[in-house]
Amino acid sequence: MSFILGLTGGIGSGKSAASQWFETQGINVVDADVVAREVVEIGQPALEQIQHTFGDWVLNADGSLNRRALREHIFQHPSARHQLEQITHPAIRQSIMQQLQDAHSPYVILVSPLLFETDQHQLTNRTLLIDASEAIQIERASQRDGQDSEQIKKIIAAQMPREQKRQMADDIVMNDGHLDHLYQQLATLHHHYLERS
Ligand code: ADP
Repeated sequence: MSFILGLTGGIGSGKSAASQWFETQGINVVDADVVAREVVEIGQPALEQIQHTFGDWVLNADGSLNRRALREHIFQHPSARHQLEQITHPAIRQSIMQQLQDAHSPYVILVSPLLFETDQHQLTNRTLLIDASEAIQIERASQRDGQDSEQIKKIIAAQMPREQKRQMADDIVMNDGHLDHLYQQLATLHHHYLERS
């Protein structure tokens, strides 16, 4: 398997902007958020297991996952989160590993907001943190999502603190300026990664 780079960062830090730049350089990107949605699509074994574990109420009339109902259930029964994750995490991990294996670029990227929080960083050879000050995170994320800054602050508070992520990451790119500055820093790293792969 080729060299796997784990890419992470808090909400609004610029993970997607960085991933998109790597894609323009021909690097395959596996997105853990996308995989997490795929494994609970209609017809997937994980969705059947969820239905079996929780009951038919977790499905909408069309057979898709009723995320809102499941979220409310977990909110009221915290132990249900563990049950749910026991179903989804192995399925997500399996699918991520398959997609990483299927990649055909010189190296491959796994982008995940929870790279360090979950065991996903164990699947990677090296990690890159996209970092930005909290004020910038709030400004960019609230503009992008149309959410107020209080909601973004809550999400940031629930994520691993920046300082801890900075200590865990092998490489750090500070994305507090123009996009061109981000791309310049990524280009330097890209050349290093190509040499290692
Ligand atoms: P993440 O995926 O980490 O949540 P995004 O890559 O979506 O963050 O970035 C959040 C928003 O900020 C997006 O709308 C993105 O286009 C914008 N953005 C990211 N980096 C910069 C930058 N250096 N300058 C201006 N806007 C940026």
